Parts: sequence; C-alpha cells; structure tokens
Amino acid sequence: MLDIQKIRADFPILSEKVNGKPLVYFDNGATSQKPQIVIDAEAKYYQEINANIHRGVHTLSQLATDAYEISRVKIQHHINAKFSHEVLFTSGTTHGINLVTNGFASILKPGDEVVVSSLEHHSNIVPWQMLCEKTGATLKVIPMNENGELIMEAFDALLSAKTKVVTVNHISNALGIINPIKYIIEKAHAVGAAVLIDGAQAVPHLKPDVQDLDCDFYAFSGHKMCGPTGTGILYGKEDWLNKLPPYQGGGEMIKEVTFEKTTYADLPHKFEAGTPNIAGGIVLGTAVDYLNNIGFDNIQKQEEALLEHATKRLLEIEGLKIYGTGKNKASVVSFNIDGIHPYDIGSIIDKLGIAVRTGHHCAQPIMNFFCIPGTIRASFSFYNTIEEIDVMVEAVKKAKTMLS
Ligand SMILES: *Cc1c(COP(=O)(O)O)cnc(C)c1O
Repeated sequence: MLDIQKIRADFPILSEKVNGKPLVYFDNGATSQKPQIVIDAEAKYYQEINANIHRGVHTLSQLATDAYEISRVKIQHHINAKFSHEVLFTSGTTHGINLVTNGFASILKPGDEVVVSSLEHHSNIVPWQMLCEKTGATLKVIPMNENGELIMEAFDALLSAKTKVVTVNHISNALGIINPIKYIIEKAHAVGAAVLIDGAQAVPHLKPDVQDLDCDFYAFSGHKMCGPTGTGILYGKEDWLNKLPPYQGGGEMIKEVTFEKTTYADLPHKFEAGTPNIAGGIVLGTAVDYLNNIGFDNIQKQEEALLEHATKRLLEIEGLKIYGTGKNKASVVSFNIDGIHPYDIGSIIDKLGIAVRTGHHCAQPIMNFFCIPGTIRASFSFYNTIEEIDVMVEAVKKAKTMLS
C-alpha cells in the first residue's frame, strides 16, 4: 500500500488552510494539485535553460529543444504511441479536440454523420456541432441509461456507412463512468469511421495504451494529471495527422514560405505553430514521471478504496442520491440531497475547508437527462484519504440539517 502521508508531503497546497480549516481537496476532476517536483521543474527551466526552441544554434536553445523533445518521447512511451511525431503538444484537451474538428472540416460532406455520446463534456460536443454546421454533416448521440452507462445496442444501431467520426470520453467527468471504448473503437472502425477519445479524465487514473486501443486520436490535458495548466497532448495516428490540414498557420510549422505558396513542415511541427508553452511541455514530462514512480496500480488501489468508502458513507445520508451508478467507475461521486440545491451544500462545506464542484460540470445534457440543475461532485485523487472523506460526510450532514 502507498504511504499516503509521505505522498501528501509532496504537495505543499495540501497542508494549507482554507477558511481557517485544513483543506480537503475533492475537486480533482476540475484540476489536480501539483507536487513540489513539478513546481520546482518549472522554476528550474526558467532559471537555467530558458530559450526558444527549434530555432537557435546557441547552447541554451539546444538545451531547451532537447528537454522539450525528451518530454515528447517520454509521453510517447507513456501512452505507447508508435512514433514520437504522433504526439502533439497542445494547450489542453479543448485545443486537441478543436485541432481535429478543424481538420475534418475539409473532409466531411453534407449527409455524413458524426457520433458523440450523451456523456460528453461540452468541449467534446460544441466543436463537433460547429463542424457539422460548417460541413452539413449530422450529429448523432449515443443515449445512456439511468445508471449513466452508454447503451451499446443503440450505438450499434447508429453506425452506418455514413458515420465518419465517432467520439466519446474514456471516463465521464460528471459521473465518473468508464466507457467501453475498446468496443466502441472496434465497431466504429468496422464502418470505416475515425475515432477520437477524450481522455481528460482518464489519464490521472490510468495509463492509456493508444496502440492497444487502436484509437485514431486521443486528447488529454496536463493539468488534471499533476502537470501545469496550459499543457496537453493530442495523440493522432500518423496517417490521420498527415491527412489533416494544419490547424494554425505561423512560425515553426512551415518548410518554406513564399507569397505564392507555403509548404508545411513534417509532423509534429505542422501542428505546432508559434512558440509553445515550452516550460509546460517539459514539466508535463516531470509530472508523468512522478505518476509512474507512484505507479498506476497503486494509484488505482487507493482511489478504489476512496470510492468505495465515499459511496458507502454518503449513502448513509437519508435522501441522498448518487448519479452514475454503473459498475465501471473512476473515483468520482456525483450526488444530490432531496429538495436541496447542490450550490447551497457546496457553499456550506466550502466554509468548512472542503473543495467540491457543484453545478453541471460542463455536461448540461447529462443534467437534463436526470432533470436536475446540477450535482455535487467529489472527485478523488490518490493523495486523498479515508479520513478526509469522513470529514466531508460529516460536513454534508451538517449542511443538510442547516438547509432542511
Ligand atoms: C476537463 C475536461 C475537458 C476539457 O479540458 P481542458 O483542460 O479544459 O481543455 C474535456 N473533456 C473532459 C472529459 C474533461 O474532464
């Protein structure tokens, strides 16, 4: 078992007080906290090797370029991509998805179909809607059941020769449900559709293997996996990345520019116009190392224990309902108490030092499905403890008494 106290000592913010109480941070689904090693690596970059990359012949520029490219290879190995040029640095999941939808604008035709799921984050709905509007393609939605699970028979029925793209999240941010993406990818490929997986909520909990999954694109953010904000990765299969046009034009993404014609640079640079978040990209590699040193088996064991304890303890509260009761779940509990607005509970427990998210979690269609304005979402990380869950349960009980 993990030595949780030792791990917690790696995260300076976890010993802070909020509203005079020890911080209980259960908003990991929105962003994770950062270990000191990540904070230090960011400072070290600026203190020791800061320079622009892929440009200068001078020593610092080469050191910065090497560190950036070493990080890319580290992430390639982490997700088991075949080539490092299939790993694009982005500013986050949203950027990665938009890069792909922008590319498909020149591929889709009126009558083509894009399949999304009813469990998606707005980031993986809106760009596809914009794409459909632009191209005349139609958006189809995989429905879900009362447990928050996607209905696979309905998905099968949506697929046809018209289906050009299927996109679904690996793990739902609002409910924590783990989707059967291997099945989805296989079925989508059988009709010739490309598949994008939104891995934003998966990468803090597991190590995706993009070759085993056989997905065409896999997007995620650095900030939810102990890395800095403004960092992310889009994995794309080489063939697809060669086929898609560049997302942005600018420096770094060209081979040759004249006013008559510009030829684009090879992968990955074709999709990395302008000066990127160099420090962030390097430090994302540090965060990946940190998580691998802890070990994803250990992370999952701790998070399973937290999920089980939280589910059991919360259900002791009368009138409390958990949304997302499917079997395959990450360490997220989304709940409401009969007759009480989630915001009111969130505000009261915040005064007690507990950070949870309240609202629709950028997934309004899910809330519409359950006919609720939102939920209280407690999302746990490996650095959280059983004791913290007990603190939250007592706080929720107190809030319930105050509000009823
Ligand atoms: C957080 C999240 C996103 C968006 O990530 P950004 O870092 O804000 O770009 C997309 N999808 C899911 C499932 C998420 O949880």
